[in-house]
Amino acid sequence: MLPVDAAPIAHGAVLVDDDGRIVAVGPDHAVPRPANAESHDFPGAALLPGLVNTHTHLELTGFAGMAEEADFWEWIKHIIALKATRTDEDFFDAASRGIRAAWAAGVTTICDMGNTGSVIAAMHALGANGIAHHEAFDMHTAETSAVMKQFSGELDRLSEHATGRVAIGVSPHSPYTVSGPLYRSVSDLARSHGVPIGVHVAEPADESALLRDYTGIFADALRARGVPRMSPESISPIAWLDRHGVLGQRTLCAHAIHTDAADTAIMVQRGVAVAHCPRSNRRHHHTDAPVARYVEAGLRVGIGTDSEVSVAPLDLIAEAREARRLTGWTAAQTVRALTLGGAEALGLDTACGSLSAGKWGDITAIRIGDSQVPEEAVLASAIGDVVATWSGGRPVH
Ligand SMILES: [Zn+2]
Repeated sequence: MLPVDAAPIAHGAVLVDDDGRIVAVGPDHAVPRPANAESHDFPGAALLPGLVNTHTHLELTGFAGMAEEADFWEWIKHIIALKATRTDEDFFDAASRGIRAAWAAGVTTICDMGNTGSVIAAMHALGANGIAHHEAFDMHTAETSAVMKQFSGELDRLSEHATGRVAIGVSPHSPYTVSGPLYRSVSDLARSHGVPIGVHVAEPADESALLRDYTGIFADALRARGVPRMSPESISPIAWLDRHGVLGQRTLCAHAIHTDAADTAIMVQRGVAVAHCPRSNRRHHHTDAPVARYVEAGLRVGIGTDSEVSVAPLDLIAEAREARRLTGWTAAQTVRALTLGGAEALGLDTACGSLSAGKWGDITAIRIGDSQVPEEAVLASAIGDVVATWSGGRPVH
């Protein structure tokens, strides 16, 4: 057993109560076995906290392999075209399949971004846990007030699903799809509602070029639509978001590839968290995020898969192997990033991320054979090695 916030326990056991909370963790002989308790044994497996996937787009489940463009803007346009072929029911079914696939891969908490509202509805219906960020876009400041009116109505409607362990958040999408005033309005709305913010930031190189000198593929596309240059002077994506009040302790920055030391200082000052998606970064942008610098600076860093249109299947442990390569983490530190580190990045670490009394019974069992170093064996495992998953004490895989 790898409790993560305590040393590994040989022949460990965990007792979960009827409410789904952990009441005891320890060596098997020391953990009570109430007569009426269901009992399951997993010889040759590691028991660890359910994994935390800090960046998904589960409404895109089913589109794996369907958009292969090398050019990021062409790829996004292809996804928009694919999404236009789906009904609301299709999206709900896709999101539900995505949640079940997460459980099958040992993931019990997800942080999702999307604009259909299907993921929060599916999380609510299936009893999944995590945060669903609802996306906002405006290409031109002339659209901002109408977009905001519609967005806040959608948020009110979707908030009906935010019960129990399902939370709603907002996601002003990216610097190439969101104006400064919309960033400001959505961030103000998030603070007044007390909900978290998730953003894609400093991801493609052309996003930096857009804000630096209004060049690159996004600048070309925006100029063609009559959008004037947004910043009169050169500014980085991180500084741009900070200027509009987006960054704070409840802000999760996905990707954050193109940042420098000054950006990192802003991120530290604001206390943001990072969702690190190493394989997606390589797939689209052929480069790595400076994740070692973020760790060194003390930022909260979680691991994310991004959508299966970027890298399929969603394999959080494969992402963690890449993150380990970039950070120099030990095996134990890498397992921590997959679980408690992700929970900290999402602000959910008092509820999940480790096996300790009082937290939810989010647990996964991963086959490791008779390995002497269970963390290494977990990190070497494949999705098919996940033998069981519980969410809040409920068997979900
Ligand atoms: Zn993403």
